[in-house]
Formats: sequence, C-alpha cells, structure tokens
Amino acid sequence: MDIHEYQAKEIFRSYGIPVPEGRVAHSGNQALAVAEELGGDGWVVKAQIHAGGRGKAGGVQLSDSLEAVQQHADRMIGTRLVTKQTGKAGRLVQRVLVEQAHNIDAEYYLGIVIDRNSQRITLIASASGGMNIEELAQISPDKVVHETIDPAVGMQDFQCRKIATKIGLNGKQIITVARMMKQLYRCFRDNDALMLEINPLVRTTEGQFLALDAKMSFDGNALFRQADIIDLRDFDEEDPKEVEASGHDLNYIALDGDVGCIVNGAGLAMATMDAISHYGGRPANFLDVGGGASPEKIANAFRIVLEDPNVKAIMLNIYAGINRCDWIAKGIIKAMGDQRIEVPIVVRLAGTNLEEGRRILEESGLDYIPAERLSDAAKKSVAAAKGTGV
Ligand code: GDP
Ligand code: MG
Repeated sequence: MDIHEYQAKEIFRSYGIPVPEGRVAHSGNQALAVAEELGGDGWVVKAQIHAGGRGKAGGVQLSDSLEAVQQHADRMIGTRLVTKQTGKAGRLVQRVLVEQAHNIDAEYYLGIVIDRNSQRITLIASASGGMNIEELAQISPDKVVHETIDPAVGMQDFQCRKIATKIGLNGKQIITVARMMKQLYRCFRDNDALMLEINPLVRTTEGQFLALDAKMSFDGNALFRQADIIDLRDFDEEDPKEVEASGHDLNYIALDGDVGCIVNGAGLAMATMDAISHYGGRPANFLDVGGGASPEKIANAFRIVLEDPNVKAIMLNIYAGINRCDWIAKGIIKAMGDQRIEVPIVVRLAGTNLEEGRRILEESGLDYIPAERLSDAAKKSVAAAKGTGV
C-alpha cells in the first residue's frame, strides 16, 4: 500500500526526521492560507499523487509570492498530472502540499528497501540525489552505495557512518545523517514498510539536512497490525476495479492485454496467463476467485473483468477441488443473465461435479465456447480475442 508524500512526512516528523514545514491544501484559497500561516518569502506547491517524477512534469512549483502559491494550487488541483511514472492517463490531483521553500546546497538520495536476494533490509544512498535511482544504478552503479542490515542486531552506528562517508559527508554532517538513518530504519521497521525513499535529501545553504521528498509503501499482509497506516489508504489512487474486487474477496490485478481471465487458485491463474502469452495473446488481468466460489462471486468476477474496455474475450478456467463445477456453471448463467456480455467466453471446467456443471451449461442454451484442456482453452481465447474465429 502506498501513501502520499504529506502523509509520509507526517510519519517522518513523528520519528524526529527533519522535513520542511508545510501543510496540505485542497484549493487555491486553502493553499494561500497555509502559505500565510507558514510565513517566510518562498514556498513550494507540490501535487500530491502516488507517483514520482512530478518535478519534471510541472507538479512541483517554487513560488515567491502568495499569489503565485494560490495560482499554482488552483491550476494543479482538479487536473490530471502526467509524469514518467503515471502512464499516459496521468493521475487526478486532489490536493497539494504547501511548504516553506529552502535554498539547496546539495541533493542526496537515501532509501531503505527489502532486498529480495539477501532477504534483508538494505540501506541505499547516493551523492547524486534528485535523479531516478534505478536509472542511476544502471548508468553509474559506482554512484549508488548500499549496506545490508542484519535483522538480529538491526542497523548499527558504524554502518550509518560508513554510508554517510561514502556519499562524501564529513565531520558533523556524518553524525547528523547517521542519526537520521537510524531513525529512518526504526520508522521502516516499526511500520512494516516495504520501501522508504527520500529523493532528494538536501543540505540547505544553512547547513541543515532535510527530507525534501518522502515516499513510503507498506506490506499489505501486515496491515492487520498497522491500524494507523490503514487509515492513510487513498482509494482514489487505486484502480477502482481492484478496490471493488477486494471488497468481493476476489484477487484481481489489472494488466494491459485483452484476454480477461477468471480462474480459481493463484497458481492456476498464473499458469493461465502464461498459456495465453504462449499462444500469442496478452492477459487483461490476473483474477483468482478462490476456493468455494459461489454463483454470486463468479457473477461479480465477470462484472469486474468486463469493466475493462480492453477485454475482447474471456477465458474461464476452473479446476474444481473445493469449488464445484455446478456452482461455477450457475455463476456463469447468473452473470450472463445480469448483464449483456458481448465478448466471446471460453469455458474450461474440470474436477468436482464436472458432469453436472456441463449439463447445466448445455441446458441453459447460453452462447459460449467449450474447451477441454488448458492449452485448448488458451488457444481458443487468444483466437477469439483476435477475432480470427475458433
Ligand atoms: P518528484 O519530482 O516527484 O520526485 O518531487 P520532489 O519532491 O523530489 O521535487 C522535485 C524537485 O523540486 C527536487 O528535486 C528539488 O530540486 C525541487 N524542490 C523541491 N522543493 C524545493 C525547495 O524548497 N527549494 C528548491 N530550491 N527546490 C525544491
Ligand atoms: Mg523526488
């Protein structure tokens, strides 16, 4: 689960990690009021969306007058911001963060991630802040330094000092930034984060170190014990189909192909997507209806898959163990009765109550394409999506 920059900065503040003074605003007037309250003679207006790359896309605006703050906020709020990370459709900006501006002497990068190879929390840092770290790691890997944290003892002072030295800090700066790293580590671990990123961490011309940008994402499997974090979830930033699916206890992930998939079991759903790709098609989604899928659940699955306008065919692939083919058949009938389905549907059923399921479907008189095996179903679905006939 991702959160907004202003929310991550609130969390940072509570751990004593220095961030610029600022507050969120939902309109130009509010932005003006925040800037007045903050005082000073320079402000930054920052679009709040769950994506980076805002600076280059006009979503971060330095303002040297209160009028400019109001104008920038008015212009950003209600429009879609397209950055390198949002895709073509962009993201709707519903609020901005207004902060006191700072004069920057140097920009660094500081991040904490879980490294899947070592299976450990890893601290990443660079003296080249403000850049896309993935790109930097590709073109100049020597400019990115990292340190693996042993979970038995946690982040050690010497590790922080080592990293701080490697990014070119000296004297008191090392002590300041090393302390910040330890606070960040606590913040990461206490909140079951998956990723924490400060890009850039800046040194101001007054010599102060500040987290100018802040990004955090959290482990969805740990949210049950992170009540404060759950409250920060912004459903507007998520795919509405995924939100709706999770409400129906369906595991749905939107993809960009055109063969809609309705499958039981995550493993079979993955194999189904592989089979579709193998026969030259592209899956429109991952969808696991789980075990014991009632007719209502199957009907909901159809509705969610069909909300994606790219879907040209549906492949229903059920290997019924706990599930029952007769329930699935009733679900298909319910789905087809509830809504007009204009795309071809390929049905492959196997397992418990197969004969009963087939009989129900045959007697219903519904228009569908039966398939015997996974490969057969995938081939037929790909052909149906391409409109080349089955
Ligand atoms: P991102 O582009 O979405 O990662 O947004 P950031 O929060 O990283 O902001 C982009 C850039 O705006 C930063 O790298 C800074 O160079 C610049 N910026 C943000 N706040 C300030 C500020 O207070 N003063 C100055 N001079 N630049 C700022
Ligand atoms: Mg940034």
